[in-house]
Amino acid sequence: MSVMKDLKKIALVAHDAKKGDLIQWVNDNIEHLKEHQLYATGTTGVTLEKETGLKVIKFKSGPIGGDQQIGAAIVEEKIDALIFFWDPLQSQPHDPDVKALLRVAALWNAVVACNKSSADFIIQSPLMHKTYRRDLKHIMDYTKDRSISH
Ligand code: PGA
Repeated sequence: MSVMKDLKKIALVAHDAKKGDLIQWVNDNIEHLKEHQLYATGTTGVTLEKETGLKVIKFKSGPIGGDQQIGAAIVEEKIDALIFFWDPLQSQPHDPDVKALLRVAALWNAVVACNKSSADFIIQSPLMHKTYRRDLKHIMDYTKDRSISH
């Protein structure tokens, strides 16, 4: 069980061809988003700060390891939600990292949106303003079976 508080920790990532869509989405939802703690990969973060005025905690740029840093933060339960506008029409130099990020986000039962519609539904959810207990029983079971610490 991981407790997500009222203030959610949200990672925002967009591939280059999708950065414009993410900026638009953030600006459209700025009143909601400014109530939460925002994180981003490097270039996405710099662009968002410039274009929206929001404060964003920045990791490295995606292709040099930023996706992996966000994945690690999800594993460490430091990020609750991932809004990831990845580009389904172009392969990326860091495709393995993209896959790894999506895998750990699914594994750790993080909130994930990979397109605008899903992001709209998430940001409008009443759960965004409530404490939510994220079920991690499968992780606990996995670690218990192997006698390793969570
Ligand atoms: P960027 O990385 O924000 O540094 O462009 C995004 C990504 O490709 O994962």
